[in-house]
Amino acid sequence: MSDSSSKFVSLKFQVAGAFAFVASFIVLVFSLVIYFWSSDRQERYLVSEYSKFNTNFEQLVSMTSDHLVDMADQVMLLASIRKDDLSVHTVEWPESVASALEVHWENLNLFGEIDSMVLMDARGKVLIKRGVADNTPIDELLSWVPNKSRPQSLIYCSDDCRIYLGVPVLVKGDNRYILVITQSISDVISTMQRSFNVELALALRQSKRSYLGQLANWNVGLMSSTSKQVVQDVLENANLIYRLDQILAGGQVVTSGNQSWVLWAKEITSSGDILLIASDVSEEQKSNENLMLFALAFALGSGVFAVFVGVGLLWRPVNRIALHSSTLPLLADGEYEKVRQRLHNMHSGYRNEVDQLDSVTIDLSRRLEFLSREVELRTGELERLAMYDTLTHLPNRSLFIHELREAIQSIEDGKGECVGLLFIDLDAFKRINETLGHMVGDSLLVQVSRNLSALISETDTLCRLGGDEFAVICRDLPSEEALYGLLNQILVTFRQPLEIDGRKLTVTASIGVVCSSDAQMSPEDLTRRADMALYSAKDEGRNSFHFFNEQMLVDISESLELESELQRAFDQEEFCLFLQPKFNLKTGELDGFEALVRWRHPERGLVMPNYFISTMEEGDLIFQLGRWVINRGVSIIKGLEQAGLGRFKLAVNLSARQFCDEELIDHLKSALDGLPGERLELEITENVLINNSDFAALMMGKARELGITVALDDFGTGYSSLSYLRELPVDVVKLDRSFIDPTDRNKQSRHIVQSVIDLAHKLDKKVVAEGIETAEHLKFLQDSSCDSAQGFLLSRPIDEEDLPDLLAAGNMLKAAQKHIKGQ
Ligand code: C2E
Ligand code: CA
Ligand code: CA
Repeated sequence: MSDSSSKFVSLKFQVAGAFAFVASFIVLVFSLVIYFWSSDRQERYLVSEYSKFNTNFEQLVSMTSDHLVDMADQVMLLASIRKDDLSVHTVEWPESVASALEVHWENLNLFGEIDSMVLMDARGKVLIKRGVADNTPIDELLSWVPNKSRPQSLIYCSDDCRIYLGVPVLVKGDNRYILVITQSISDVISTMQRSFNVELALALRQSKRSYLGQLANWNVGLMSSTSKQVVQDVLENANLIYRLDQILAGGQVVTSGNQSWVLWAKEITSSGDILLIASDVSEEQKSNENLMLFALAFALGSGVFAVFVGVGLLWRPVNRIALHSSTLPLLADGEYEKVRQRLHNMHSGYRNEVDQLDSVTIDLSRRLEFLSREVELRTGELERLAMYDTLTHLPNRSLFIHELREAIQSIEDGKGECVGLLFIDLDAFKRINETLGHMVGDSLLVQVSRNLSALISETDTLCRLGGDEFAVICRDLPSEEALYGLLNQILVTFRQPLEIDGRKLTVTASIGVVCSSDAQMSPEDLTRRADMALYSAKDEGRNSFHFFNEQMLVDISESLELESELQRAFDQEEFCLFLQPKFNLKTGELDGFEALVRWRHPERGLVMPNYFISTMEEGDLIFQLGRWVINRGVSIIKGLEQAGLGRFKLAVNLSARQFCDEELIDHLKSALDGLPGERLELEITENVLINNSDFAALMMGKARELGITVALDDFGTGYSSLSYLRELPVDVVKLDRSFIDPTDRNKQSRHIVQSVIDLAHKLDKKVVAEGIETAEHLKFLQDSSCDSAQGFLLSRPIDEEDLPDLLAAGNMLKAAQKHIKGQ
């Protein structure tokens, strides 16, 4: 979302600005170089000008000296003095020099611009003197002119500054005289003034004389000057600002008004008298100053520009990019508002790519926020779908695990001593579902869930784990005992009939309970324990609760051990069959045998099936066993027939899972292998019918097609009821031992057995009684017209190996018939 009120300036231009920054930095450096160069230039100027003046002055002085030598030559010529060599004149008489001077002085003075002329002997006695010059330096000249034998000059200042030239004059042999000629240096000064366009002044040390006033600080008196203004403006100013030696060292700049002068000084005499040279440098100074000012201004300007460009164009965007890099991770953390706060209103006026990045990021944060809200909502919905059971709206297994984990955690957090877990399983719900339909089953589950919800406390959680299985998580319990109240209430509630679709239904429940104070226990472990407890509650007759105990864990591990041992037993062929005869109660004939499996354990001896069948049923070994028993049983029966010992019927026991094995029929077919189906009977218990009645009926039909009969084993335990018997497609009903046992002492039992037998007969089913242990049992069953019987009284199960011999001997049959026929 771009802000339309501001214009876009690409960062590219800002990068260009950065180049400008670099360029202006270079300009800055350049300007500074110019600045320092120009300030240095003045220094150089002062030095070079000074040396120019100096040389010029020396040249002018030496030119004047040469001129004076010429003048001396002329004087000597006029005095007819012979000249021996270039520099030494020889005269006859000093008087002739004097007279020559006398005659020509006027001309010499006028045209030769000579101030004075003095002729002296070697001792300094003045022989002739013309002009105004001071004699003071003549002594000095005296001392060295004769020795050197050449003309010498010096400058001396008194009332004026003059060049003194001493010329040695030889008169008559070695009598030496000296001619001293002087000339003012004013010509030198005016020549310099003209050729250099400078002003000059002469100043004498210790204020010997001062026509133009004193320069007190320098301790000199001004004698002459080419300009009065220079004296006033420059010299007096300089006298105040500088020391004399500073001026002598190389010149200094002096300003007066809006004019600038450079002032040099040169000592021109041995006593330190000074020639001052002042040059008006106002123009140069101004232009130099202008250049420096310009350079400085340029440097300053480009410096400011560089800073502006640097800060304004690059510093900010770069900083903001850095801000972005620290802000973007916040998006991942879902801190959208913070992102917007940080990036909001960062740009002003013109926009660039960073501003666009801002806008895009802010936009992105809004979209992400929207998306994350959407995701949250959807997640919530999915969670509800994933975590709750759609029928009862109770938490499902996933949420149950989660809740359980939290409940366990709460022990660690110190809330309560233990966590209770109840697994509630409806007894025989399957049958209701199948007989009354799924709609009724669903209504029942909803009703049960409501009833249970009403019983539990607020801190407890009721879940539906699937099918007819519910769980209650009880938090913050002080002890195991605290659960008893709830458990009893649940059982009481279940005892009340539920009204569903105008129909009253009673369902009972089995409850497995575990109570744990171990905060380290995993939800899975706790669930397994509750499952074991439920399993044993079911085992113990349903409609009850059972607490978990450690023995259950031991049992489980034992059964695992047993399972592997059983597999080994199969491999080692340690199983064998015992066959228990069944007798016809009317004829006393041997009806057939029931095959009962045994395990010939190498150490423990003969192990009974009750010990290992249930373990086999938990795994897949039971299928292996079933096939083995059928094969073995059939081969025994065939063997007996072939041995001419009789054509017997064999009954084999099949557990529920075996009977529902789809491959059972095929296996039966191949096992019979020519033996008529009528010779085989399958004994199944009614839980086959309960758990999968449709499929069981189908299997029964297929078995019967093969001629195989089906017996309902253990009738009288579990749910067996007389009305139920009516619906069962079985050929034989086997009355359970527990049904028969009390008949010898309990009239009511006898009554029931009698009714069952009558009903079975009415339904065209045969009745076999199991567990005949006493003559009374036998008598009662015969009286009740039970068809067949089986029991220790008549015969114990017989080892398959002993059977042929026993049959051949006929003793077993005789003994049984003795009982049956009451002999
Ligand atoms: P079941 O089918 O009810 O077998 C009859 C059981 O009662 C046998 O016990 C038999 O020895 C015993 N019995 C027979 N007459 C009397 C009597 O007068 N008094 C007493 N007290 N008991 C009597 P067993 O052989 O220990 O078998 C126990 C159970 O093991 C059987 O009960 C059956 O359910 C199961 N079973 C045995 N063999 C097999 C088998 O091959 N396959 C399957 N699936 N189960 C088998
Ligand atoms: Ca049986
Ligand atoms: Ca039985």
